[in-house]
Amino acid sequence: MKKIGTRLTKPRKSIFQALSDFSKPSTVKEINLYLQNKKIKVNLTSIYRTLSLMTKSGIINEIEFGDGKKRYEKVEDNSHHHHLICENCKSVEDISLKETTLLKEVKKQSSFKVKKHSLEFFGLCQNCQ
Ligand SMILES: [Zn+2]
Ligand SMILES: [Zn+2]
Repeated sequence: MKKIGTRLTKPRKSIFQALSDFSKPSTVKEINLYLQNKKIKVNLTSIYRTLSLMTKSGIINEIEFGDGKKRYEKVEDNSHHHHLICENCKSVEDISLKETTLLKEVKKQSSFKVKKHSLEFFGLCQNCQ
């Protein structure tokens, strides 16, 4: 929050609040609906602009679930996780993995300097199996 400091206007605050309230990564459409329900007036352009700004400053993450829609999620300290996405009901679960081996393997095979990564798993949740 502090990273974008005093430029935090009311709409920006509300968008950040929306992402805090949602328990899963959310689309612009869902964020827009949340704001409308709370009678907060923010136009779509500002929502897009705010989300892009917040993504750049690293306080939220932009995630692609392969359906062409971008989703946004708040970044919590030390809460690096991945997503299990149900292709049937579109539910999203978070999962933490021990990935030391995986990251070592990347280092071994390439001199690429990895700054961040994301992993999404697609399949069927318990209810849909
Ligand atoms: Zn990871
Ligand atoms: Zn499901």
